[in-house]
Amino acid sequence: MTLSFTRSDGVKVDLIRESHCKVCSKPIPLNYKDYGYCMDCKDQKDREQELIMYGVTEYILKDPVERLSAINREIREFKHDRTLSGKLGECMVHVITHRYPHLRDVDLIVPVPSSNSTCGYNPATLLAEYVSLAIGVPCENILVKDPGSPLQPEQPADRKCVDMVGKIRPKRLIDGESVLRIDDTVISGCTMRECARVLKENGAGRVYGLVVGRGIDRKRLEYLEREDAHHV
Ligand SMILES: [Zn+2]
Repeated sequence: MTLSFTRSDGVKVDLIRESHCKVCSKPIPLNYKDYGYCMDCKDQKDREQELIMYGVTEYILKDPVERLSAINREIREFKHDRTLSGKLGECMVHVITHRYPHLRDVDLIVPVPSSNSTCGYNPATLLAEYVSLAIGVPCENILVKDPGSPLQPEQPADRKCVDMVGKIRPKRLIDGESVLRIDDTVISGCTMRECARVLKENGAGRVYGLVVGRGIDRKRLEYLEREDAHHV
């Protein structure tokens, strides 16, 4: 069963599965929910590595455009069409209000930095500013990414990610504030994890993450749906 909500423009948005790995944030079968780890991370239960990361919807990687849901199409187009920030931002505010209300209590919203300047804007910044206005939490571009660092291509979550360590720097120290990192998508989780590490190392309190689309390939999503159907 998939939960959904209807956006103000009438678009139906399927909400993300609740059950995901605490380390890599990859979705896991519902009956693993209490266990909390995927098969890849089951031996690596290092709490330091855990990502507190939420999302709006599953973002199906590599599907041809005609198979994509409206929200998945928007997530893809948002990489070059900044006018979609309001529609996607509304989805983020919906899940904060209805699913993750504790995120309203953070001290600071921080966009995940991008080194991709080809589209002329950072999608994460537009979303962070939208959410900031909607929930009344200040937004600050506190992190910068080394412009020479490689782009994170769309790749399955279980593929080895590019080493991000040392590629992200803070602009200032943080005085114990809790932080909500915001990005449009998460694929491998490497950038999100490195942002959390840098924020904590520079004084942040609790660090959360929120994205619109959590990347998954269709095969894995279909596997999870079959697994869940056996355990309801
Ligand atoms: Zn995992």
